[in-house]
Amino acid sequence: SRQFTRPLNDLANQYNMILSAVAGAERVFQVIDENEEKQDEKQAQDIKNMRGDIEFRDVQFSYEEEQTLSHINFHAAPGETIALVGPTGAGKTTIISLLSRFYEIDEGSILMDGKEINTITRDSLRSQMGVVLQDSTMFHTTIRENLRYGRLDASDHEVEEVAKAAHAHDFISQLPDGYDTVLDSDGGGVSHGQRQLLSIARAMLADPALLILDEATSSIDTVTEIKINDALAKLMKGRTSFVIAHRLNTIRAADQILVLQHGEIIEKGNHHELQGLGGFYSDLVKAQQAESRASV
Ligand code: ADP
Repeated sequence: SRQFTRPLNDLANQYNMILSAVAGAERVFQVIDENEEKQDEKQAQDIKNMRGDIEFRDVQFSYEEEQTLSHINFHAAPGETIALVGPTGAGKTTIISLLSRFYEIDEGSILMDGKEINTITRDSLRSQMGVVLQDSTMFHTTIRENLRYGRLDASDHEVEEVAKAAHAHDFISQLPDGYDTVLDSDGGGVSHGQRQLLSIARAMLADPALLILDEATSSIDTVTEIKINDALAKLMKGRTSFVIAHRLNTIRAADQILVLQHGEIIEKGNHHELQGLGGFYSDLVKAQQAESRASV
């Protein structure tokens, strides 16, 4: 339909939009398909060299009548890692969608480097954001081109440098066609874990100020997982990162943990602080520890 092809054509000119499309194709297209994306406000300006200072002030949001997010308050300083924790349906993904401005908030404000989000053009905002999802989409083209979607003017040398940093170079080099290996759009040709390393390399090439990560829940072999964790640590360094986190190790390392339930932040702080509360979070930690003991 027109609604699908128009955004796709627009996307083709903008690596940033491609990146978000690649990363969250289903969501992006679902949103664009539902409500034609709105025009930027007349006074909207491009945001350049974003520092990654993000603040939510009493944000309220609902998709329909029912309130989805209420009284969301937090402040992420540049470079901080924010873990979003809570049961399915709590509102974690919705917070990410608001950051990417796929929806407009009903009340409150979202500030980026101190500027109201609706005074910033959508394209420039998204050009500052990188997204690594547990099921990052690959295009039906070569590995080299798949990585280059991170930054369309990157040289072959730059592509290989990020692949090395993301621990993808070795497995790529072992493929018969190396960087010229053509991937299926469903990721066929490389393993699930390898696909994650590729999407991390792609995000490194994009070099965004703000990162959105959806941590994998599926089991990946230990060696690959160590590589993924190391590559992610490199990617996150110096960038404000929002992680929809499932693993205790990731959550524990976050500067701030936002525990969400029914669209509200019920606990906020670092691991140590939340443990001290003896509430939802400390119960979660106990449950995870019991689970990991049981699986050993
Ligand atoms: P989480 O990421 O924590 O699992 P979500 O942010 O996806 O939670 O969902 C929060 C609430 O909003 C849920 O009740 C969910 O059903 C609802 N919701 C999510 N996306 C939409 C949508 N596109 N339209 C209507 N309701 C939605």
